[in-house]
Amino acid sequence: MEKDFCEYCNAVLPENERLVTVYRHRRGQHFIFERVPARVCARCGERYFSAAAVREMDALMKRTKKAIPSCICTGDRIAASLTRKFALLARI
Ligand SMILES: [Zn+2]
Repeated sequence: MEKDFCEYCNAVLPENERLVTVYRHRRGQHFIFERVPARVCARCGERYFSAAAVREMDALMKRTKKAIPSCICTGDRIAASLTRKFALLARI
């Protein structure tokens, strides 16, 4: 299997993802996603998410009503919908 490298420190990224908490904001709203799978660089701690995870988080943020100032979403369904293979890494 081809290795992926951290774009910051060039360390080899671990094959296995960990479940992390992600803070994001969109149009002044703040979102916390819990248990989102990510590959975490062992050297510098940079986190890499699959394109599917990023897409899923974006979809959840779009679905949230404007009246709610902030929301906490669980990433369980994100994890469930993801394949184990990372075709594309995205940094957010
Ligand atoms: Zn790194």
